[in-house]
Amino acid sequence: MKNREFTFTMIKPTAIRFGKLVPILDEINHAGFAVIAMKMTRLSKAQAEKFYAIHKERPFFEELVSFMSSGPVLAAVLQKENAVQEFRKLIGNTNPQSAEEGTIRKKFAISIQENAIHGSDSDQNALIETNFFFNQFEIFSNNESFL
Ligand code: GDP
Repeated sequence: MKNREFTFTMIKPTAIRFGKLVPILDEINHAGFAVIAMKMTRLSKAQAEKFYAIHKERPFFEELVSFMSSGPVLAAVLQKENAVQEFRKLIGNTNPQSAEEGTIRKKFAISIQENAIHGSDSDQNALIETNFFFNQFEIFSNNESFL
C-alpha cells in the first residue's frame, strides 16, 4: 500500500450530539481504515466559513456554517489503499435519502445538511483539509512523519 493513500474526515456536530460518534468510528474501523491522526475540536464560524469557502455562493452556506460551528466535531486522517474513493463509497451520497443502503450517511444522517460525516472528494482536498486541522507533529504513521 502506498503510504500517501489517505483521506480526511470530520464527524459532524449532530452525529456527536446524538451519540453516534463511537458507532461511526466502528463502521470506519470495520471498513479497514487505519487512523493516522484524530482530534475533537470545535470550529468557530470563521473557521467553518474557511473550510467550506468553496460553497460561499450557495443558498445554504450561512446555515451550513452555523451548523458546523454549533458543537464539537471529530476530525481524523485515515489511511487505506485508494482512501479517498473508498471512503466516499463508505459514507454514501450527500443526501441521505439518496444514499445507498449500508452507508454511514444512510444509517446516521438526519438531513442533507446534518449528514453525519464529511469525506474529502479528492487527494488534493484531503491534503488541504488535513493541513487545515493538523500540524506536522500530529500526523504520524508507523512512527514516521506521514505527509
Ligand atoms: P459532500 O462532499 O457530500 O459533503 O457534499 P458537498 O461538498 O456538495 O456539500 C458540503 C456539505 O454542505 C454537505 O455535506 C452538507 O452538509 C451541506 N449541503 C450540501 N448540499 C446541501 C443543500 O442542498 N442544503 C443544505 N442545507 N446543506 C447542503
